Amino acid sequence: MSDEELICSFCGRSKPQTDLLIAGLDAHICDKCIHQAHGIVLEEAKEEEEDSNSDSAAFDIKTPQLTKAFLDQYIIGQDAAKRVISVAVYNHYKRLSHTKSDLEEIEIQKSNILLVGQTGTGKTLLAQSIAKMLSVPLAIVDATILTEAGYVGEDVESILTRLLQAADYDVERAQRGIVFIDEIDKIARKGDNPSITRDVSGEGVQQALLKLLEGTVVNVPPKGGRKHPDQKFIEVDTSDILFIAGGAFDGIEREINKRLNLQAIGYKIQAQKEDLDKDNLLQYVNPKDVKSFGLIPEIIGRLPVLTYMHPLDRKTLRSILTDPKNALTKQYEKLFELDGIKLIFSSGALDFIVEKALEYNLGARGLRSLCEAILTDAMFEMPGGEETELKVSKSYAERKINNSKNPALKAVS
Ligand code: ADP
Repeated sequence: MSDEELICSFCGRSKPQTDLLIAGLDAHICDKCIHQAHGIVLEEAKEEEEDSNSDSAAFDIKTPQLTKAFLDQYIIGQDAAKRVISVAVYNHYKRLSHTKSDLEEIEIQKSNILLVGQTGTGKTLLAQSIAKMLSVPLAIVDATILTEAGYVGEDVESILTRLLQAADYDVERAQRGIVFIDEIDKIARKGDNPSITRDVSGEGVQQALLKLLEGTVVNVPPKGGRKHPDQKFIEVDTSDILFIAGGAFDGIEREINKRLNLQAIGYKIQAQKEDLDKDNLLQYVNPKDVKSFGLIPEIIGRLPVLTYMHPLDRKTLRSILTDPKNALTKQYEKLFELDGIKLIFSSGALDFIVEKALEYNLGARGLRSLCEAILTDAMFEMPGGEETELKVSKSYAERKINNSKNPALKAVS
């Protein structure tokens, strides 16, 4: 074959038109086509790398210890819950950031969480802080508004409508978001015997939640409301959504006590029983107690990470008032500062606020109502005035609360 007849199989140039023509099995390639092909290879490799980076950079996954350190900035105390949740969140997002082939045959289950603790102890705050740390969308829903499909109330799918809204309708983001279901204890079955005291609505909602918790594809009405045939749906896969359920489980201590006492019948356990901290039985909560309380075993199985929140004592409340990154006193100081006013709480005033919160049994939520009651007059009168400082002493706080029109504070006084 002459040089003229040898041509590049890609661009058709003959050998004399090229600087180099390399022979393959039944084809040839010229130097120009090699350069071009090399460029394509580099471009492809770059795109692939960017794709994989953006997958893992979607979350800045922090180790459990770093997660807990982050939570410590916002949530006072609750060490046990923070540790357990840091691990659960780490495992959950670790599971998401690895492909199926990385995990080989082992399917890692979801680490949905059940939080047991009185209201106002920081359950919602925990869920919010985790979502903030990961920059994922968060939907907070109250289990009491949910009903079985066909009943008055909202279908369980409405949970996902809210998550979609929180994610600005970005389905991918929603599918990696967090759902906090509050008051899960309110849909408990009443009584432990399903055949006698069947509580249809509560148990029905629990049944409806099962699939969501486990992972399923749901047709979600984007604007909420009831499903009807003409509505367009958005498909949402719940497999990678982290569910955190919380509830006060009022009276669960009785179930815990009963179980511990039953165990104590064996004499060996007697010694252990003496070590029990009887004032805070919640720390011994286990899935059996939650079942005795009325959650169905299938739900409990799908919320495998169980932990508890301590009731807030005087010291914790005091610290909540001043220590977190966005503590209440820091928020008010900032508000006043924006008006050029220096706000100073005396230590006696802070102790007094804590005393009142305990007295009114309002938990940490009460701290805010109390601060509002104390500062509303000043926030009304001071802006635009001459004064540049407000000292809140115990007697100032006391006077303002006594004159307060807040019904929540009046009702108990
Ligand atoms: P729950 O969900 O347990 O009813 P929340 O998380 O809604 O309670 O808490 C109510 C408010 O009380 C929060 O906005 C937060 O300011 C405050 N709070 C409660 N517990 C804590 C805590 N452990 N650390 C800091 N703030 C807390």
